[in-house]
Amino acid sequence: MNTKVLRSLSYGLYVISSLDGDRPTGCIANSVMQITSSPATVALSMNHDNYTNSCIAKSGRFAVSILSEKSDPSLIGHFGFQSGRDVDKFASVKSAVKEGLSVIEDSCGYIVCKVVDKMESSTHTVFLGEIVDAGTIGEDPAMTYAYYHKVIKGKSPKNAPTYLPEEDNVEIPDKKWTCGVCGYVYDGDAPFAELPDTYTCPICRQPKEKFIEK
Ligand code: FE
Repeated sequence: MNTKVLRSLSYGLYVISSLDGDRPTGCIANSVMQITSSPATVALSMNHDNYTNSCIAKSGRFAVSILSEKSDPSLIGHFGFQSGRDVDKFASVKSAVKEGLSVIEDSCGYIVCKVVDKMESSTHTVFLGEIVDAGTIGEDPAMTYAYYHKVIKGKSPKNAPTYLPEEDNVEIPDKKWTCGVCGYVYDGDAPFAELPDTYTCPICRQPKEKFIEK
């Protein structure tokens, strides 16, 4: 079985938000798809280990903010590479409240859902969400998962539904400066060592010291 073919499936990049009691929280997902048009319904796959999973299960609601190619890539690190258990993720991000849920302003738009059903797999929950509100923000094209990998050079965390173990073993011909937190590989023109000490990872905003040569 050649699982590399699974990379030919298409996905987007989304901030999934929900409520932890009264506090908004969220994470990154790439597996969201429309299931029916009437009633308008989407499915979302989320790892059991994501704190947002338990918040969706408890509150029965989630929102999808659709990231655009122009969205700040640090949103992906902010929501995707740290846990809502430890961090108040919405405290430092511009957001709007729609039907009681926080959505990202720096995005293409949003979808707010109430959970109408769910299915458990061994590692992920598939939530079925009936859309209760939706809207567009701006005109920028949506960021696809392929764009995230090829243009932004981001990696998949291990709990992404589409994670392939081979991503850890991709052969890199020369050693490159790689973010030890999110896996971003620096490919700028300037030698990495000559970058200012204030340089931070464009994906997860970790400081220069977190980069390792590998
Ligand atoms: Fe990083």
